[in-house]
Amino acid sequence: MGQDMAILDILHFPDTRLRNVAKPVAQVDGSVRQLIDDMFETMYAAPGIGLAAVQVNDLRRVIVVDTSEDRSQALALVNPEIIAKQGDESMDEGCLSVPGVYETVQRAAQIRVRALDREGNAIEKDIDGLLAVCIQHEIDHLDGKLFVDYLSNLKRQRIRKKLEKDARQGGDKTQRRRAI
Ligand code: ZN
Repeated sequence: MGQDMAILDILHFPDTRLRNVAKPVAQVDGSVRQLIDDMFETMYAAPGIGLAAVQVNDLRRVIVVDTSEDRSQALALVNPEIIAKQGDESMDEGCLSVPGVYETVQRAAQIRVRALDREGNAIEKDIDGLLAVCIQHEIDHLDGKLFVDYLSNLKRQRIRKKLEKDARQGGDKTQRRRAI
């Protein structure tokens, strides 16, 4: 971790900037590592278990995740791609960009991910469980997609109204459960 980490502002639904599609990182340089460090700082402070660069209004394809209880499993993925997936998993998801909302989403149970790590090395990993759900959720963010997009229009409208009301009232952004 760098010594000059910063907590970044997280965009909230329905901010249209969350619909931006991130661009591949050409080279994992110091500025990308700084972004990764700042994203970890921001994610842990929220607190959350995953964060995508789009959520902090940076359009590089970078995600950070850590689903451990003791923050010991920090994983940064640059240009992450799901190259294989298998099975179904339904889990309650939350999102740091949709505070206070938790809904069940169906995703693949197991995934194989290809990415660059913080040092720019190519990696491939087989992942399942909560971490697999989390990574699918974060890669969606890089494509401008939110977990509420998997819900019905009616449900999404209700969530939008709730968050707009919360924002008008000064917003309670406290995460009571772990969000990604
Ligand atoms: Zn999210």
